[in-house]
Amino acid sequence: MEKYDVAIIGAGMSGIAAGIRLAHFGKRVCVFERHYAPGGLNSFYAKDGRKYDVGLHAMTNFVKPGVKRAPLNRILRQLRISREDLNLSEQLGSRIAFPGRDLRFSNDFALLESEVAAAFPGEIDGFRKLVEDVNAFDDTEFNTPYQSARSVVQSRIGDPVLEDMIFCPLMYYGSSTEDDMDFGQFVVMFKSIFLEGFARPREGIRNIIKLLLKRYKEAGGIRRMNTGVAEIRLSGNRVERLVLDSGEEVEADIVLSSAGYPETLGMCSDTVESSTECSVGRLSFTETISIFENDPSSFGWGEDTIVFFNSRDRFAYRAAEGAVDLTSGVICIPNNFDYGEEGLPEGVVRVTCLADYDQWKSYSEDEYAANKERWRGRIWDAARAFMPDTTLDYSRDCKAFDMFTPTTVERYTWKRRGAIYGAPTKTKDGSTPISNLFVCGTDQGFLGIVGSMLSGIAMANTHALR
Ligand SMILES: Cc1cc2nc3c(=O)[nH]c(=O)nc-3n(C[C@H](O)[C@H](O)[C@H](O)COP(=O)(O)OP(=O)(O)OC[C@H]3O[C@@H](n4cnc5c(N)ncnc54)[C@H](O)[C@@H]3O)c2cc1C
Repeated sequence: MEKYDVAIIGAGMSGIAAGIRLAHFGKRVCVFERHYAPGGLNSFYAKDGRKYDVGLHAMTNFVKPGVKRAPLNRILRQLRISREDLNLSEQLGSRIAFPGRDLRFSNDFALLESEVAAAFPGEIDGFRKLVEDVNAFDDTEFNTPYQSARSVVQSRIGDPVLEDMIFCPLMYYGSSTEDDMDFGQFVVMFKSIFLEGFARPREGIRNIIKLLLKRYKEAGGIRRMNTGVAEIRLSGNRVERLVLDSGEEVEADIVLSSAGYPETLGMCSDTVESSTECSVGRLSFTETISIFENDPSSFGWGEDTIVFFNSRDRFAYRAAEGAVDLTSGVICIPNNFDYGEEGLPEGVVRVTCLADYDQWKSYSEDEYAANKERWRGRIWDAARAFMPDTTLDYSRDCKAFDMFTPTTVERYTWKRRGAIYGAPTKTKDGSTPISNLFVCGTDQGFLGIVGSMLSGIAMANTHALR
């Protein structure tokens, strides 16, 4: 039977990053991935000869190369990946769009500050104090008790519209809980989106995954694709072995799982009593990807990189009540990064909205296809209301289209209910009731591309290298 120092479940960002770290330190490490493609929630695929990214809008946490303690530069150092190889292009500028109000922001925080001062002059002092609160918070400490971010923000900001405008991007890009979030998570998201910023490799997520896999291989890590872990067999309080989908068994001293906390405990051979109340997440999304012949600047959409929109008086970030919640969402235009001379070959517009897993799951195959077609136009219209007037005729000009729903996420990542941001309760120290089984990635609590890599590194350091 094969024996490893560390077995990692999942070749997403956190699993590969953990693997690189462990391989660098001479551990015999193997990553087991059920899918044929690496990348997990942020993978890539081809359809009708065209390359698509599964989810990439932007890499958050963008800072300039010299900023030593910033997460992006820290992980690249720890993974021994060069900044130049990432080939990142910065966003042109993004926007939070609410009825009658816009707040623009970019990779220069001064823009958001000036926008808040102009649109909410009575709130700018409170906003600056909130930024001080964010900077004073120790986001490296795993054991900080839960504190409602809404209550902290409300202690600084009186206008509920500004409060909601601040929360909207932070929730869409990383909240597994409805309407409120832990202040610790708020701090991580606020820094990664507003104080740092957005960038994108011109080649998309492939570039990041290729670099990670190359590094992992060079460091001596082993990767087994199309090889799911079916069961985590326990002996008392320890993992004794892993049973793979094929029936093969392997042994490992330590198991790091990026499959999600409830998903991981669900693989255990005995029922595991968890001291952490950790239910399956309720929040999932749908995303449409529309391809156009020309760059969006040709139809008047050349300025916004990402637009977070909300059409209601108050922004509600909750599980959708119908198949899709059209009242808020995110529009991402991958063309609108500063690529210099070399733009993207086609125009791309991605629109994300909250969606209901149960509804999509209940459809027959035909109903599912019909509903995708039905919602496609509605989602487009909801998003278009927040964009500049355009000469575009969607049904005439859109030359290719794809769409994922909560069931797509579940089918390809085995994330229950397609809950992209995982369980509502996070396990910040990565521990489980099993002494040599730990979680990394989404359910450890660091989200997004940079966050999940940070999580993989931190969990490898804490549980397998100390
Ligand atoms: C549509 C979409 C858009 C996104 N956009 C962005 C963005 O623009 N910017 C950003 O920073 N983040 C974005 N994210 C979030 C980001 O992709 C995730 O937070 C991050 O990739 C999570 O990585 P992870 O390693 O924690 O988990 P995952 O990516 O979920 O990796 C877990 C892996 O485990 C595998 N697995 C599960 N069960 C088993 C098993 N039993 N055996 C073997 N393997 C198993 C899965 O197949 C998967 O590959 C987006 C996510 C989605 C879905």
